[in-house]
Amino acid sequence: MPEAVLRRAAEEMLDWHGSGMGVMEMSHRGKEFGAIAMQAAADFRTLLAIPAHFHILFMQGGGLGENAIVPLNLSRGTKADFVITGSWSAKSQKEAQRYCATRVAASNAADQHTRLPDPASWQLDRDASYVHVCTNETINGVEFQALPDLRALGCDAPLVIDFSSHVASRSIDWRRVGLAFGGAQKNLGPAGLTIVVVRDDLLGRALEICPSAFNYKTVADNQSMYNTPPTWGIYVAGLTFQWLLQQREGDATGIAAMERRNIAKAKLLYDVIDSSAFYNNTVDPACRSRMNIPFFLRDEAHNDAFLAGARETGLLQLKGHKSVGGMRASLYNAMPLAGVQALVAYMREFERSHA
Ligand code: PMP
Repeated sequence: MPEAVLRRAAEEMLDWHGSGMGVMEMSHRGKEFGAIAMQAAADFRTLLAIPAHFHILFMQGGGLGENAIVPLNLSRGTKADFVITGSWSAKSQKEAQRYCATRVAASNAADQHTRLPDPASWQLDRDASYVHVCTNETINGVEFQALPDLRALGCDAPLVIDFSSHVASRSIDWRRVGLAFGGAQKNLGPAGLTIVVVRDDLLGRALEICPSAFNYKTVADNQSMYNTPPTWGIYVAGLTFQWLLQQREGDATGIAAMERRNIAKAKLLYDVIDSSAFYNNTVDPACRSRMNIPFFLRDEAHNDAFLAGARETGLLQLKGHKSVGGMRASLYNAMPLAGVQALVAYMREFERSHA
């Protein structure tokens, strides 16, 4: 979280704009919260240049919830295609199987999820109800540098992207997207808010068994207020959107500024890893994630000492995901360049004293 956002939320916690109430105490149907939610949606639209024919929905259930909610809304109980690029897309396919037939159109499992299958090689089903792609695999550290153009591949099915772990870190080509979803807790705000961006022609296809609170059309028709939305999460995400809109990097602003900064942060860390015989990252440079950088100490016997020393230096949460081991640095939007500089300085020093 950007520190400025946390400070603002703290200042306003007991009394939002002289209303005599904190945001957590407001009715979600009152005019104060209505204004907060409307501004948040408008700012998110501006930030990511989301065209008018897409709805922005504030929901609950997280990324894993959407793994069920997407097929409940889009599959019509028929079939859907999945591109498996790591742990999260694999989970998405597994969950969707409960609601429709699923096919693997492409997979990088044979490469241990270290390179992305070229879209030209994907075996897409022309009759699929949608094609699911996780555009940034948080655990494996692979990221699509451009969204696949399904139409150019001869497939008219809508592209569904799970952008949970890199939303707002780079621009999105909405011409290629049918639906995007993500939990807010990485780049946008506190856990509990899930954002869905859905093209309007995809509303109204839900299965009869779809819970009403998870029916995209119901949620859209009620401006995300069919049930009580995660009000605190929407408010804090709204503060983050305003912070993002104000960011500047040279002549770039907003998302373009964040993208520049994220490129610089990631390059700094990958360069140190690649120029060292002590550290190692196994992901193909063409599809390395800017957000989540897994790396290994070539001698894993040093892992515990590396983490303990990092903790002492104030560098936290560097332990890799249990399914891949090693280390992982998550360079989300709010991580300043200075944080990455501190990490690489520590890594160089640790290498000097342990190589
Ligand atoms: N998709 C991706 C890409 C993720 O990184 C995560 C969480 N790390 C999830 C889905 C699951 O999200 P949640 O925990 O909000 O259900």
